[in-house]
Amino acid sequence: MRIAVSAVQGAFIEHEQMLSSLGVECFELRQRADLLRSFDGLVLPGGESTVQGKLLRELDMFDELHQQIRAGLPVLGTCAGLILLAEQLSNDPNVYFGTLPVTVRRNAYGRQLGSFYAEESFQGQGVVPMKFIRAPYIESVREGVEIMARVEGNIVAVRYHNQLGLSFHPELCSDTRIHQLFLSLVGQGSSSAA
Ligand code: GLN
Repeated sequence: MRIAVSAVQGAFIEHEQMLSSLGVECFELRQRADLLRSFDGLVLPGGESTVQGKLLRELDMFDELHQQIRAGLPVLGTCAGLILLAEQLSNDPNVYFGTLPVTVRRNAYGRQLGSFYAEESFQGQGVVPMKFIRAPYIESVREGVEIMARVEGNIVAVRYHNQLGLSFHPELCSDTRIHQLFLSLVGQGSSSAA
């Protein structure tokens, strides 16, 4: 099993460290040539979604990744990564991959007061630590989307077939359960395409 981590911008190193600590091979996607390697899952890290979306397009990586996600490649999108996956943003006209049928609000907690920590239950995992940084949340979900976690009533984690989208940053906590959940999707293969 090999995981590709988008490394054009943002908190990708922490994902790599966590995957490595779980004994999983991963590599960075920095340029188009990196897409020639085969991989079984993709991580879209937190950071700045506008910058990441722009760079993925400019580096000519966007269409290939889009096609692979649509074809069922397991993907973990955290924070900005969730924004890249969302079908619609309620406060931004941009759409990036648009493969996850949810509406997401960017910087939903405000820009300055947007960083906080919570511990909440996550579907099938018990209570997990969650770090939020200028985080989005999911305002609404469409058919087939499984809600995995809420914080104060707001949806902060969803799963839709091969896609796991999170408002928070599991890679910034020492708890590895969310990454293990993602790896279990990767282990199941790409049979359940979106
Ligand atoms: N506010 C960022 C955005 O809109 C996301 C923040 C994050 O990834 N921590 O892209």
